[in-house]
Amino acid sequence: MFIGSHLSISRGYEQAGKEALRIGANTFQYFTRNPRGGRARKLDQTDMDKLRALMEENRFGPLLGHAPYTLNPASDKETVRAFAEIAMREDLARMDLLPGNYYNFHPGSHVGQGVEKGLDYIIGLLNLVLPAVQGTKVLLETMAGKGTEIGGNFEEIAAILQQVNQPEKMGVCLDTCHIHEAGYDIVKDLDGVLDAFDRIIGLDKLFAIHLNDSKNPKGAKKDRHEKIGEGTLGLSTIEKIINHEKMQSLPFYLETPNEPEGYAEEIALLRGLRNTLQTDK
Ligand SMILES: [Zn+2]
Repeated sequence: MFIGSHLSISRGYEQAGKEALRIGANTFQYFTRNPRGGRARKLDQTDMDKLRALMEENRFGPLLGHAPYTLNPASDKETVRAFAEIAMREDLARMDLLPGNYYNFHPGSHVGQGVEKGLDYIIGLLNLVLPAVQGTKVLLETMAGKGTEIGGNFEEIAAILQQVNQPEKMGVCLDTCHIHEAGYDIVKDLDGVLDAFDRIIGLDKLFAIHLNDSKNPKGAKKDRHEKIGEGTLGLSTIEKIINHEKMQSLPFYLETPNEPEGYAEEIALLRGLRNTLQTDK
């Protein structure tokens, strides 16, 4: 089972890999730059090579680089869209130095222009940045549908994937808290939700899971993550998710409200819930 949590790379890539091992993880997610925007950390190829060796030695699953929250490719402001383009170009060029990993971003908010206009901007930006991408899969995250967020339903994600020029370079990261708050009933009908995902987007496009419990009821559209087993999804739903035949081979990334010690406990808990018929805990 590939499981990890969000970790900081502020002390370097190799250190983050060591921290992952310390908490029982075999992958991790990190912010490509400050989550509120700003510059990426200084490039250090030696440090990246050390992480690559650590990942090979410990059979890590793919890493997930997360774009900053402030990145809004669907903004009505030219300057905001321009920043999104620059940041994504830089992030993806950097991620290609450590190929085979995933880059995740929030599709964006249309801020009142309407979904169609927002989608046009997102697709336009992707068509600008994707041609240079070599070894990185670019993932759209499923959103809770807060405010004017795009990606709060499977149709909007599908629309982007269907209209970009290079869909083969892209995929989806499904956030369990977000889809629950978007109104998909994964507590009572996980199979039905996955069938809908398959019909609308295609399960072959699903590459990663953000594994979070939720503070809010289904359909709340608020986006508040909760610790595993302490929220409205609950431990039995989480157990079904990690053992589901359509998701069990994917990497799971925790973004629960925790410090590393809390993540270590959740990872141990989840490994314990992993179906005993599966050889890899
Ligand atoms: Zn996210």
